[in-house]
Amino acid sequence: MEHRATKGSKVAVVRCDSYERESVSSAVREAVELLGGLDSIFGEEPAFKTHGKNAEIVLKLNLLNKAEPEKAVTTHPEVFRAVGELLHKEGYGNLVYGDSPGSPVPGVEKTAEGCGIKAVADELGIRLGDFEHGTDIEYPDGKAAKRFVLCNEIAKVTGADGSQPEGMIINLCKMKTHQLERITGAVKNTFGCVQGVNKAMSHARYQSPEHFARMLADLNTVVRPSLHIMDGIVAMEGNGPGSGDPFPMNAILVSTDPVALDTVFCTLICLDPQLVATNTACADAGVGTWDDEQIEILLGGVPMQKEGAVITLDELAVKYASREFNVQRSRDFRGSMSMMGMVGKLMNKRPVVIANRCVGCGICEQTCPLENKAVIVREDSAGNRVAAYDYSRCIKCYCCQEMCPERAITVKKSLLAKIVDRRWKV
Ligand code: SF4
Ligand code: SF4
Repeated sequence: MEHRATKGSKVAVVRCDSYERESVSSAVREAVELLGGLDSIFGEEPAFKTHGKNAEIVLKLNLLNKAEPEKAVTTHPEVFRAVGELLHKEGYGNLVYGDSPGSPVPGVEKTAEGCGIKAVADELGIRLGDFEHGTDIEYPDGKAAKRFVLCNEIAKVTGADGSQPEGMIINLCKMKTHQLERITGAVKNTFGCVQGVNKAMSHARYQSPEHFARMLADLNTVVRPSLHIMDGIVAMEGNGPGSGDPFPMNAILVSTDPVALDTVFCTLICLDPQLVATNTACADAGVGTWDDEQIEILLGGVPMQKEGAVITLDELAVKYASREFNVQRSRDFRGSMSMMGMVGKLMNKRPVVIANRCVGCGICEQTCPLENKAVIVREDSAGNRVAAYDYSRCIKCYCCQEMCPERAITVKKSLLAKIVDRRWKV
């Protein structure tokens, strides 16, 4: 299947310092215009050719869990509003939103309500799509994944279920760190197109960052969002994607190429894009490019605009990158562990429970994808319910850490891993 992101990918980076409504609206509008406008972006899509502006547009959010917008876990409602209003203004009226959250409880609608998204959707008349139920899709061309269970809305709108495509997807991703893949941006956000419990099963099947990234490359080839809009106004650093800390990056990033967009994200946080397995796997699969010579950055906003409209990744790094952003920048030794023996073990990292934050809710246990759970909740000597690990079983997928609502799971690195991480910076 041919992908739309080929050579010469453009990424619009527009400064936006707050979630104040007018600022976000202006930044989103400017970024989309820098890429040529919506009609031009959608122009070659089969559904656009058939249905024109009546084609369904799915706004695929990041609704990881029911977190307030200021926690920077989910796509901010003002970014969602700005995109919805822009689409309406440009004559696109058939809008749907959704995501498959990390946990099936409390459901998509309640999660959207908790994130402040549902209120905006109701105000703008944007319908909730069917992200609760799945359609089995065979994908014989997949390099890592030969089949997916896609959310019904995604299967229908893309035509992945064998029908004619009914519309297009706009990927409204969030700029965050991720324990398995270092970052979660445009590429990783498509994982929420996979229905409910099938996401956990994927973690059990594709365990290493590289294998998981190859599955994501296949997934991106199947669902192919037409446009990626990243909420990087307040990003998440550290213990992401669910328990990290908000970090102001003050930017909206927009591209038709998810790999180029994630590469710009990496550049802004001083992370070598080649260390991110989703970038390299997706480039190999033809989803997009991380090659700095193929990426053109279109700057917008104030004061970026005054510094020159088109710049390279190197220029972006010099002028705007932040080394303060907390992300894993060291090389990963897991691939060579068997060769390195003890060194590999000494470079270990693993999830640990912060006992005084744990309320014993059991979400980590429910989320663990293993049949024989590697984390269970049990009573401690004082009679408190608290989560405990069996590391002999744990595959280090970090689903438990991702979904803990109390930020009670952190990732502990060995001393050697900490030292290397501090020294081995790009
Ligand atoms: S670690 Fe988090 S998810 Fe697990 S039981 Fe404790 S509070 Fe709940
Ligand atoms: S305990 Fe956590 S990190 Fe380990 S396998 Fe289960 S969900 Fe993954």
